Amino acid sequence: MSAVKNNKILVVGSANQDLTSNSDVLPTLGETVMGKDFATACGGKGANQAVAAGMLGLAPVEMVCRVGDDLFGQNLLANFRKVGVQFDGDKTVLKNTPSGVASIVVDGNSGDNMIIVSPGANYKLTAEDVREAVTKAEPAQVIVQLEILPEVALEALKAGKDVGATTLLNTAPAPEGWTLEDPGMEFYPYIDVLILNESELAKVSGGKESENEEGMARSLLDKGVGKAVIVTLGARGALIVEKDDNSIKVSQSQEPDDLPAKKEPVKNTVGAGDSFCGALASYWSTGLTLAEAAKYACGVASMTVRKDGAQTSYPTYDELPDCLK
Ligand code: ADP
Repeated sequence: MSAVKNNKILVVGSANQDLTSNSDVLPTLGETVMGKDFATACGGKGANQAVAAGMLGLAPVEMVCRVGDDLFGQNLLANFRKVGVQFDGDKTVLKNTPSGVASIVVDGNSGDNMIIVSPGANYKLTAEDVREAVTKAEPAQVIVQLEILPEVALEALKAGKDVGATTLLNTAPAPEGWTLEDPGMEFYPYIDVLILNESELAKVSGGKESENEEGMARSLLDKGVGKAVIVTLGARGALIVEKDDNSIKVSQSQEPDDLPAKKEPVKNTVGAGDSFCGALASYWSTGLTLAEAAKYACGVASMTVRKDGAQTSYPTYDELPDCLK
């Protein structure tokens, strides 16, 4: 096992170009309608978390992902460069492969949306790729989500453990009926910190969303999560259920009371969970306890819901109020 040499955060996951059309009328099957506004944005859960951490600048951040040799891929990589997220320039772009794209249609009246994610290059990232990247980077933390192939996500966690890194899994977007313990796909022994939102907690633990969150989180610790289960609770902050010597410590974190953004109305919660994950890893890398890091991460995520968009709502370190510094 190699020693961990630095406080690098390695994010293994997806990068997508989001293409969003707004329309007052949604098309029915076979129909074409004229829409209103159109916008592009850099997204994908992995990229969002890397960018969130990169913008905070509290630790070096590296992204392991795959994009296509198209304009979207160029755009996604330019975005990483802009915020100081490192990536392997030789390996990240795949020839003759489309980049991952999220085609989003928003109903201009209700705000409801329909989304098709075409994974493209994201599903070409292999288990061998991530093991090589993790071994080379020797990160302090490896953070993984589930918008890449499950076996690749699992290998990233295993490789992280092998180099002595702390491993974090964010289960978004956990499909219905999906578990972390399918035969041959046993995730629990390789996860130090599991981060889920309320609906993912119910799906992964097999409970019901209305059930006791602490109980469901404890059941996941019992299954083998190494250090902590963190449940993000929207406006209620985050629940941290943590192994502490031979006992279990439970705490709830919320944004600081004096966070200036708290006075502003909530606009858009898209990407809040990714902001939380990127900020949690960043603050944790500075030597704070997990509960303290979660409190700061709630503060950052709470700022983002006061702005439109996902990455466009993420703050840089300079934009943070004193209570988050
Ligand atoms: P997800 O985006 O994955 O569904 P949550 O909705 O739990 O996850 O949000 C993640 C974090 O974002 C929360 O833990 C909280 O810190 C912050 N957040 C989300 N919604 C709000 C809100 N309405 N007000 C304040 N903070 C919020």
